[in-house]
Amino acid sequence: MPPPKHPKLIITAAPLGSVPTKADNPHLPVTPEEIIEDGIRCWEAGASILHFHARDKDQKPSLDYGFFAKVLEGLRKHTRLIVQISTGFRTPVHRDDRIRAVDLRPDMMSLSVGSVNLPRGPYPNDPVDVEYYAGKMIEYGVKPEIECFDLSHIHAGIALWKKGLIKDPPWFDMVLNVKNALPYQPRHLIHMVDTLPADVMWSVIGVGPAQLPATTMAIVMGGNCRVGLEDNLFYSYKQLATNAQLVARVVRLAHELQREVATADEARKMLHIENS
Ligand code: ZN
Repeated sequence: MPPPKHPKLIITAAPLGSVPTKADNPHLPVTPEEIIEDGIRCWEAGASILHFHARDKDQKPSLDYGFFAKVLEGLRKHTRLIVQISTGFRTPVHRDDRIRAVDLRPDMMSLSVGSVNLPRGPYPNDPVDVEYYAGKMIEYGVKPEIECFDLSHIHAGIALWKKGLIKDPPWFDMVLNVKNALPYQPRHLIHMVDTLPADVMWSVIGVGPAQLPATTMAIVMGGNCRVGLEDNLFYSYKQLATNAQLVARVVRLAHELQREVATADEARKMLHIENS
């Protein structure tokens, strides 16, 4: 009996995040220009989605509206990438600051649906605020990336979807191996995926050394995956990675495992994201 035929693999690149700096990996892009250039390389290597954060001139996390706008404009000009702006911000700010870039109408924005303890402290996501963000994304036609650090977050995402606050098909991203949160274990990922309704799409984020095995699991299980320096600075033991290298490795793995990789345009169709 042949194995199940899975849909094409959608690769997300997360090139910088909010924590690492150039001191950790000199390949980390931190300015709008660097993120656009790196985004082009990731797109050419096979990524369909580009998830990014803003930084200030000292590389510290920022919610600078102009920064988001500049990167979005540059990526739209040079690529067909689905652009995903992060709403994640660990320092308490007014909720409108975290969602302000929604009116730029990026293709997607991240939506953490539950709170979690991250290595440097709590990452609070009040359920009232989460509904507010989801409502704003619906209003502006932005697709959420439902970030799940825990099984309970999957249930929270399903509840939002059932309430009509998330359009079809919902896109769940399982975040595994963040220190203090759920570690990466194949059985945890399998259990999370088994918890999802059949008609949703999912992806996995394996942090640190879990990136390679979690990615491979997702390819085999028919899910999708995210790679990049936000989650993992290394290509192999002590060898620092570039974002495009990490994307290229997923493409090679998928090829060996006989899973086709979606182009950005194919991913747009699969995710029901309008052309922009
Ligand atoms: Zn992020």
